[in-house]
Amino acid sequence: MFIEPHIRTGKPGWIEVVCGSMFSGKTEELIRRLKRATIAHLETKIFKPSADIRYHRENIVSHDENAVPSMPVENAQAIIPLSKNVDVVAVDEAQFFDAELPETCEQLALQGIRVIVAGLDMDYTGKPFGPMPDMLARADYITKLHAICVKCGNIANYSYRKSASNAQVLLGEKNLYEPRCRECFYLGEDAKNKIGA
Ligand code: ZN
Repeated sequence: MFIEPHIRTGKPGWIEVVCGSMFSGKTEELIRRLKRATIAHLETKIFKPSADIRYHRENIVSHDENAVPSMPVENAQAIIPLSKNVDVVAVDEAQFFDAELPETCEQLALQGIRVIVAGLDMDYTGKPFGPMPDMLARADYITKLHAICVKCGNIANYSYRKSASNAQVLLGEKNLYEPRCRECFYLGEDAKNKIGA
C-alpha cells in the first residue's frame, strides 16, 4: 500500500500515478489518499475532464458510490489557475485528458504541489491510453492496481469490451466491460475477429 513519503524540504511537490484496468479500484485509492491528506489538514482539489459525464457533473464517484466533490475542466491547462493555495491536486479519469496533462502536472509539482493522477493505462484494445504513458514516465511514484479476471480468477490488467463497437471512448456503461487477464483478453479478441470475418 502506498505510504506518503516524509519530505522535510521547503518544496515537497511530486507526482503520483495510480493506474490499472477498469474495476481495479483506482478511484477508491484516489479517494483513500485524499481522505488522508484532509486528515493532515492539507488543502485538496479534484479535477476531472468535462468529457466524463458518467455520473454527477460535480462529483467523482467510484463504483462503490464513494462520492467526493470534483471540478470538471475543459483541458489540462485550466487546472493551473484553479490550483492556487492548494496542497494536493488530484486528477481522475486522466486518460481522457489532452496531451498537455503531463506538462501541467510537472508545473504543479514544481510549485510544491503533491499531484495524484488516476487513470486507465490501457484502452479496450490493450493499447496505452491518451496521456497515461507520458504520465507514467514522469511520475515519482507509480501504483498499478489489478482487478480479477472474471473468466479464470487470475490477476486482470485488461478492460475487455463485450460489445463489438470500435469507438475508443464508450462512456459510462460499466456493464459493457469486464476485467480480464492477458490470456482471456486475447482469447476473447480472437473470438470477436472470427465473428467479424
Ligand atoms: Zn483470465
